[in-house]
Formats: sequence, C-alpha cells, structure tokens
Amino acid sequence: MGHEMSSAMPKIQTTCPMDCPDTCALEVEVRDGQIASIRGRNDHPTTRGFICSKVARFSQRVYHASRLQYPMRRSGSRGSEQFERISWDEALREIARRFGEIRDQWGGEAILPYHYGGSNGLLGDEFLDDYFFARLGASRMEKTLCAAPSTTVAVEMYGKMPGVAFEDYAHARCILIWGANPKVSHIHLAPFLRQAKKRGAFIAVIDPKRNFSDNEIDLHLPVWPGSDLPVALAMIHYWAEKDMLDEAFLAAHAVGVEPLLAAARAWPIEKAAQEARISEASLRHLTETFAQSSPAVVRCGWGTERNRNGGQALAAILAMPALLGKFGVRGGGYTMSNSGATHIDHHKIFGHFHWNTRALNMSQLGRFLTSPALDPPIKALFIYNCNPAVTAPNQTAVLQGLMRDDLFTVVFDQVMTDTARLADIVLPATTFLEQYEIKK
Ligand code: SF4
Repeated sequence: MGHEMSSAMPKIQTTCPMDCPDTCALEVEVRDGQIASIRGRNDHPTTRGFICSKVARFSQRVYHASRLQYPMRRSGSRGSEQFERISWDEALREIARRFGEIRDQWGGEAILPYHYGGSNGLLGDEFLDDYFFARLGASRMEKTLCAAPSTTVAVEMYGKMPGVAFEDYAHARCILIWGANPKVSHIHLAPFLRQAKKRGAFIAVIDPKRNFSDNEIDLHLPVWPGSDLPVALAMIHYWAEKDMLDEAFLAAHAVGVEPLLAAARAWPIEKAAQEARISEASLRHLTETFAQSSPAVVRCGWGTERNRNGGQALAAILAMPALLGKFGVRGGGYTMSNSGATHIDHHKIFGHFHWNTRALNMSQLGRFLTSPALDPPIKALFIYNCNPAVTAPNQTAVLQGLMRDDLFTVVFDQVMTDTARLADIVLPATTFLEQYEIKK
C-alpha cells in the first residue's frame, strides 16, 4: 500500500485481493482515521476508474457491528454460543498447548488446517500458514470446493499457462464466452468486449441463461445445462470433417488428438444441437465463424464444470484453440484462470521444506470428522478463510463432526460464522484494508 498526502484527505493506493481475475488497483480515501471512499484507479489499464459494488462498499464490512474484536474461548457446552473474552496471549498459549498434546499423543496428522482463499493475498493463504503447518507435520488439505476439475484439466493440457489478457480481447475477431458472465463476475472484461464489437468482432455466448442484450453480442446459444460436452465435441467433429484442423500446429505441439477426434465422431452437429436443445443452424454458424476468424478467443468460465461431465467438457473446449492453431496472435487462444501468470518460489523465502503428510480432500470433511476408520483421527482443526459448516458438502456429517467433544477447533475469521459458533477458540481476523499484504 502507498500513501499520498497531496490533498486534504490521505489517499492509500492498494490492490483488491479478492478471488477475482480483475485484480483492481484501488484508491482508498481516509478521513479521521476511517475509510471515506474506495474507488478504482483511473490510471490502471484494466481497472479504468471503476470497481464492483461489493468492494466500493467494503467499508460497511470493515466497520460492521458483527466484526469480531478480540479472541474468545468457549465457556458453555459446544453449540451453546457461550464464549468469554480472553487475551491474545491466553489464546495462543492454549492453542499451542492443545496442538502440542495432540501431536504428542496422535501425531501431527491429527491436526488439519482447513481453509480457502477468498479474500486473501499471498500472506493470508498458502504461504506462512503452509510453512507453519508443514513444520508441525499436520495433515495437508486438498482444495477441491471450487475449480478442481477445471484446474486439473487446464494444468494437464497446458501447464500453468497464462491466458489471453483482457486488454487483448479488443484485438479479437471472434470471441466465444462459454459458461461465464463477465457482466457480473469479471466486469473489467466488459469494456474490451464493447471495444472488440465496435471493431466488428463476432461475439457469441454459450450459457443456459441470457445475460447479454442483442446489441452486445451476435449470438446466444442457451444450451441445456450439462450439454456443453456434446456441443464442444460437435464443433470439433465439424472442423475435423471439413479439414479445418491446424495439422502443422498439432504435429508440433499436441499429443492425444486422435482419442479426442474419435470421441467427437459420435456427435454430428444436428445430434448435439438436439441434445443441447439449441438451433442447429446457430451452432453451425458459430462453428464456422470461430474456425474462420483470427484472432479467435474462448473465455471459458467455471459454469461448465458445475455439471455432469464438466471436466470432460472443459477439456474439449480448451482443446479448441490448439486444434485450430489459434495461439500466437494477440487476442487469440483462451482465458481461464491467470493465477499461473506469476510464480513465487516459497523455498527461496523459507528455505527448502517438505510437507508430504497425508492429503485430505476438503469436500469430504464430514466423512473425515465422523469416520472411525481414519487413522489417526482428526483431533484438531484450524479453520481460516472459510466457513465449512455452511459451504462443505454433506452438511449433516460436517455439523455432527464439529459437535464432537474430543475435537479441538480454532476458527480465525472476521465475523462469528456458523463454524465459529461451534469452535473452542475464536480469533478475530483483519480485512484486506487493515493489514499489509502481497498480491500477485
Ligand atoms: S471487480 Fe471487485 S472483486 Fe474484482 S478485483 Fe475489482 S474490486 Fe476486487
């Protein structure tokens, strides 16, 4: 964060660390030590002076009456919501003592750090915490609640490759938005879509729901939920049949093309259109336009993975730019997550450390907390940046597990969540506007 004192009100330059691809540059005005306004910076190439309403009103969260102000210890039975105020020293001493006892009796793997990363930069998630829990020998947690299929598919196909930057969409001649809604969830793409449209780009959206007006896009295919895979395979089959594939690019850079083409042969355009309940002519039009345009780009969202065969559908969609040789020109290729665009080598900061204890899938927390077969059993949870009592699947088992008398639970959060209500120790966390952070 940088401070600027040229006007009466100090302005703090900072960056939004939310789990959002836009990474907005922010200007925060402070009056009498309190946030007076939060705005997007005008001089940032993608923020361009506007931000979402969630962060523009973030001061309401910072100063909300429900914020936790001090550490607390459970003073009644679990779930009674009776807590007493304690000091940070008391809280940290008790956590250290209980973790030490559990590690001595059951081994470090009986401790599970459980977390997600919604509103945190580098310091708040998978950095110092990893180092700490690795030293403790705690169980590792597999982050699977969101984006697990898409991340697996993208990394297996392309490695941690950055996608097409938002600014480059202005140069595309064909833009296919598949399972994403940039008008709501990555709003800084929208101006570049408008720019591309003005320059004559063809913009198509594949989404069961209509989110764009006729003026904004050229084609909307309202596919039946879960039918993305047949639609993608039909497009691929069409290109293969018409000899539109970039054989030179595929020979130089791709493996596994034949099994994909074999799967695609089962889906002629008319059959896929019927399956997806869309117009056959529209699907054919999109298929031809995408192949014939350059640069052409797919903005692939996370809507697709939330369905049966979601991972397979993503694999077919992400294969499209390779099949047609769309990479290598400005505005051509695909965009999904850009989290791999920068890499920080933790070992250079902390030295080499190994953390190869058992890995537990976070989506199965309920099963792990209630299964008598888990060895060692989970005896302590340190929960931060998430609220599994509400967000983890199999809520009945999760709640049953969190109610266990022999489980020691610490929750580190900004407010008293449903999970915190069942904790032994609750620690108050800062928001991103109350701490220093590093955002990559
Ligand atoms: S659009 Fe909102 S959530 Fe996304 S980076 Fe900008 S301010 Fe943050």
